[in-house]
Amino acid sequence: MFCGKIPPSGQNDIENPATTPPKQQTSFGITRRAMLPVSGIAVLMLGSHQTAPAFASQSLEEIRQPPNPVASEFMDRAFEMREIAVERGDQAYGAIVVRNNQIVGQSWSRVVIDRDPTSHAEMSAIRDAARRLDDRDLTGTVMYSSSRPCPMCEAAAFWAGIGQLVYGRNLNSAGSPKLCC
Ligand SMILES: [Zn+2]
Repeated sequence: MFCGKIPPSGQNDIENPATTPPKQQTSFGITRRAMLPVSGIAVLMLGSHQTAPAFASQSLEEIRQPPNPVASEFMDRAFEMREIAVERGDQAYGAIVVRNNQIVGQSWSRVVIDRDPTSHAEMSAIRDAARRLDDRDLTGTVMYSSSRPCPMCEAAAFWAGIGQLVYGRNLNSAGSPKLCC
């Protein structure tokens, strides 16, 4: 739950509302004052994360590990994620992140359900792994995707430190992720 503490101003990247002119308009025509409640919630959420890093992982469902941790079974799970995407009316993609023969992150495409064009299966699986490991550095992991990751997802995998990309039923290797194709 929220700890109720609000960090002192200047301690994080959130704009300090007290120093913001009230009539200033954003590009969407909304006054910044109208956005104050949203900023407040973000500050509270940041505060709770800083004081209780386990908070995010408590709400995550446990990942079922395959009985035989081999590449084909990891790919099966990526395709299970793809099936979930289809069942939920989302784009037909799934991805998982594996470290030391354990699935540490998994997701289906959430573009439609989250109304977020960046929530590709791979991006969401990277976010899921980082949350579960409580670490943005996913060095030593392999990502299995039902299809070859797009440039956005490959770049995200690069920034996350993922070591190898494997895609498709035939376990094609795309090598280590690169920033630019
Ligand atoms: Zn993508």
